[in-house]
Amino acid sequence: MNKVNLLDLDRPALQAFFLELGEQRFRAEQVMKWIYHEGITDFAAMTNLSKALRVQLDALAEVRPPRLLYERVSVDGTRKWLVQLAGGNCIETVFIPEGDRGTLCVSSQVGCILSCSFCATAQQGFNRNLSTAEIIGQLWLAHQALGGGRAGSREITNVVLMGMGEPLYNFKNVVPALSLMQDDLAFGLSKRRVTLSTSGVVPAIYKLREVSDVSLAVSLHAPNDALRNQLVPLNQRYPLAELMAACKAYIQGLQPRRITWEYVMLDGVNDSEAHARELVTLLRDIPSKVNLIPFNPFPQARYRRSPPAVIDRFRHILTAHDLTTVTRKTRGEDIEAACGQLAGQVEDRSRRQMHLRMAG
Ligand code: SAH
Repeated sequence: MNKVNLLDLDRPALQAFFLELGEQRFRAEQVMKWIYHEGITDFAAMTNLSKALRVQLDALAEVRPPRLLYERVSVDGTRKWLVQLAGGNCIETVFIPEGDRGTLCVSSQVGCILSCSFCATAQQGFNRNLSTAEIIGQLWLAHQALGGGRAGSREITNVVLMGMGEPLYNFKNVVPALSLMQDDLAFGLSKRRVTLSTSGVVPAIYKLREVSDVSLAVSLHAPNDALRNQLVPLNQRYPLAELMAACKAYIQGLQPRRITWEYVMLDGVNDSEAHARELVTLLRDIPSKVNLIPFNPFPQARYRRSPPAVIDRFRHILTAHDLTTVTRKTRGEDIEAACGQLAGQVEDRSRRQMHLRMAG
């Protein structure tokens, strides 16, 4: 029989697990503290549980995070971990320290099913969804690698689901992981400090709002359908008008009530003054923050980064129209940890590369 990996269970599921064993609900709270606050994975060391329960847990369950394969550290302090999953694939997790802040960028899938032409992960193809344990396990591993909360260790203050994969295409496993990120007995991050980034899976945005209140970032990259169809092919399925409506519905009743838009700056493609003005019109009636991301190159990329002066000009047009806009600092570029550079080691099972070759 397969053991239950307790990292797969959010608090309600863990309570149900203990009730089913004939135990009390609060056992879930005790065990969560051991796992997430103390970093303990061995039931024998969970000394406030009875000996009999510890033996029973050992037989039925396990606490199994994925395995850290290696770490690379950038000159700017960014750290990238290659994380090995059961079955042999690897994903990447990135830690970005900045002053008091420490942002962990987490992957949600092995590879990605989308084929955004400017993203390295897209070139890898797709293998499978990560389990909840593999998603929350990235926080668990990073927290341990950063010192496990001991005096002097770096803290994870923010989490962004901006690593490999499309989180809303792994809804079932992502949602319990979000809940653990926010749970005081696990990572206790407020909804402002957990951000899910999506390329715009419209029906899932509505569904997410029913079960979560995390901050939403949307990979926009173009101010009109014609261009976005090329850059983010998912737009052909869910065009901008539908995406905007879903985003407005998402922030209804939320605080802070605003969407973060990611906009990769591609030289001569989406960075003109006319594009900036079109973007102003598109975002006119939705509370917004725009993140301009200088394009990060990767092998075989067919784009170049917009020159700094062009990015500044673009930003000034937006800010002149009262759109909060920041240019994202490129971090960890020397270790291929920057946005769009995560590749891991993915065995493509979608055969998408082959489809593309045949289509081309
Ligand atoms: N699939 C989700 C999560 C990935 S987030 C999404 O699309 O939002 C990763 C962010 O980095 C996205 O905004 C993505 O568009 C951006 N990105 C991808 N490739 C990039 C590149 N080469 N340079 C800069 N940003 C890139």
